[in-house]
Amino acid sequence: MTKYNLECLHCGATYEDDFYRLKCDNDHKPSLLRTVYTNKKLTVHENQTGVFKFMDFLPVSRVLQNKSAPVTYKSEKLNKFLGLQNLYIIFNGYWPEKKAMLYTASFKDLEAPPVLARIPEDNTNTLVVASAGNTGRAFANVCSQNNIPLVLVIPESGIEEIWSPQPFNDSVKLILASGRSDYLDAITLASKITEFDGFFPEGGAANVARRDGMATTVLDAGHHIGQIPDHYFQAVGSGTGGIAAWESALRLAEDGSYGKNRMRLHLAQNYPFTPMSDAWKNRERNLPILDENESKEKIRQIASHVLSNRKPPYSVVGGVYDTLSASNGLMYSVKNREAEEAMELFEQYEGCDLHPASGVALGALRQAVKSQQVGKDDIIVLNATGGGERRFRRDFHLHYLQPFSRLTDEEINSQDATKKIESILNLIYP
Ligand SMILES: [Zn+2]
Repeated sequence: MTKYNLECLHCGATYEDDFYRLKCDNDHKPSLLRTVYTNKKLTVHENQTGVFKFMDFLPVSRVLQNKSAPVTYKSEKLNKFLGLQNLYIIFNGYWPEKKAMLYTASFKDLEAPPVLARIPEDNTNTLVVASAGNTGRAFANVCSQNNIPLVLVIPESGIEEIWSPQPFNDSVKLILASGRSDYLDAITLASKITEFDGFFPEGGAANVARRDGMATTVLDAGHHIGQIPDHYFQAVGSGTGGIAAWESALRLAEDGSYGKNRMRLHLAQNYPFTPMSDAWKNRERNLPILDENESKEKIRQIASHVLSNRKPPYSVVGGVYDTLSASNGLMYSVKNREAEEAMELFEQYEGCDLHPASGVALGALRQAVKSQQVGKDDIIVLNATGGGERRFRRDFHLHYLQPFSRLTDEEINSQDATKKIESILNLIYP
């Protein structure tokens, strides 16, 4: 009996995993695949390290050494301050007193290990990952520790994000999308690199290992609380975390021991870059057509630069729109000022610093409390997707990954991009 199969959310076709598959073979509109595990019971393997304690619900046949796992706890002071009874925090970051040991201080640490463990050990090709910052840091760290070849592409604005408490190993190569590039330009460049022999894409939201890695946050919350939460709050750039949270709640429902609650998703974007919030307000399946310059200007204004994907998996079957529909979800637009206030509140009441994205999520929760979208007694989980970085920077000396090369947004989108990329790859891998 196989541990899992992959199921197309549009046509229902099922596939045995070849460990690289990102989409359905049938000719239809874009759709995500979902992992369907044969064993529906959640077993938490406390003897495994990090995220692999949820290995039964990860599409992997091996484990990597890794300490990163989400930590759920019940809030006392913030709970009281907000007038709530049952606020739980899923903390993803560095907070030794809570046993939260994510060495990149971000929940992207939960994605990288399963994605890498899904790839067969005898693979000889090089993984290519595009990131706005946090994801890149996570992949660079895990690949470096495990000597796995990686080409990482990020917009130059995110270069300060690629750090590690240990020196980086040679297996990790950084290429920058420079000039006026943003995350989408980095995705375009990464995609062009994967057209060369010997390279393959990580896949982002389409990679089931990435989603199931992020989904461990809700598995952890369900396991800790003993039931499926009523409400789930998270800030989103691509929305992949929101999709993963929903899939996780479905798995908990299938297990049968956690109730049959339909967990309501509350996803937040950082004003003024709010394409998904804007579309969902009107229940539009398609995102507004975004003017590139206008979007880049808006992205420059947001406090949380990781929340900046111009082409998120919103309309795709099984994507953010479908997930919000299924969960009767809500979306929020949170201003920088609200996010900053929320970060201060969290630090004051809970005692740890947060990433701006987590501030956006808490800002959304405060809006929901005010507008009574959540009840006082409801079981609410707040996914603090990153935090404790200030403390981490005090406790460790950080090493920064140096770029191997860079291409401007004009070069990336030009006719002779392929030639330029080829010469860079020839220099990296002579
Ligand atoms: Zn299909």
